[in-house]
Amino acid sequence: RAKGEGGGRFFFFDKQLGAEIRLLRQLEADLPAAIEHDQIDIYYQPVLRLSNNEVAGFEALARWCHPAQGQVSPAKFISIAEETGLIVELGEKVMRKGMREAASWHSSTWLSVNLSPVQLGEAGFCDRLKEVMASSGFDPGCLVLEITENTLIRESAAEVARELFREMRDLGVRFALDDFGTGYSSLSTFRRYPFDNIKIDKSFVRDMLTSPEARAIVQAVIGLGRGLGLKVVAEGVETEGQLEALRDDGCEYAQGFLIGRPAPRSAFGDLSRPFFLGDLASRANG
Ligand code: C2E
Ligand code: MG
Ligand code: MG
Ligand code: MG
Repeated sequence: RAKGEGGGRFFFFDKQLGAEIRLLRQLEADLPAAIEHDQIDIYYQPVLRLSNNEVAGFEALARWCHPAQGQVSPAKFISIAEETGLIVELGEKVMRKGMREAASWHSSTWLSVNLSPVQLGEAGFCDRLKEVMASSGFDPGCLVLEITENTLIRESAAEVARELFREMRDLGVRFALDDFGTGYSSLSTFRRYPFDNIKIDKSFVRDMLTSPEARAIVQAVIGLGRGLGLKVVAEGVETEGQLEALRDDGCEYAQGFLIGRPAPRSAFGDLSRPFFLGDLASRANG
């Protein structure tokens, strides 16, 4: 009996896994044409400045509108794109589209774009980025490039990253250390690379009200940011309680479903003027 049940469960697991693998294969087969035919869209997620409830910036997040699967999340296709090298082209399209759309935004609203270690492993990345900025009419002073800790431990990417920091900072481009606390970097990263922003990973924010350790880590990162003169953004804020705790702890910026889910550009209306939390409620969600 027991053996039979175990076999049944195993069969179920196997079937699910099989379906998942088939989906990933399908996505892998379809991704090149999707990139070529502009099926990759950008969703924007607002970042809130807590002192005045102004939307300080938006993070560009890639979405694939697959003809059969519907919206596919980057968790599924970014790693495929990285393994196949397609991320270089995909990343460039995201940057180009994002900067073109953001060129008409209010001058104080930043645009964050995520960079993959594979993109940074490409020689000439810096020059292509400059070309994209020049051709989109976008003010480099509004660009924030998000890099995860693990990017910088790859020697091939770290070298290009150093070049990027050197050349881009003169143009006013800023840098954010993404998913901070989950990777393998050490605190000396902050001495080697002149970051502007730290993003506290959402796993700490998720647990900050129930785990004293998570709360202590959030507070420590906020203190670190203050000491180093960096802006601290808390990711993954989903509840009023978390937002209140972050305010109490002196966090300056927050991002998460509570404030606004990633949404297409059209959800936000006119961004040529400063944009506040109340505007989000009435435009994006209303
Ligand atoms: P990330 O850069 O850390 O982006 C934040 C992720 O957290 C996004 O997932 C966002 O939808 C999600 N998120 C935001 N608020 C909340 C919240 O309150 N709760 C929870 N549970 N999640 C929240 P998404 O869009 O699925 O992207 C996942 C990752 O894929 C990103 O993590 C980023 O590393 C990568 N990615 C997305 N777009 C691009 C891109 O254009 N290029 C590259 N290289 N990577 C990208
Ligand atoms: Mg990010
Ligand atoms: Mg993140
Ligand atoms: Mg992440």
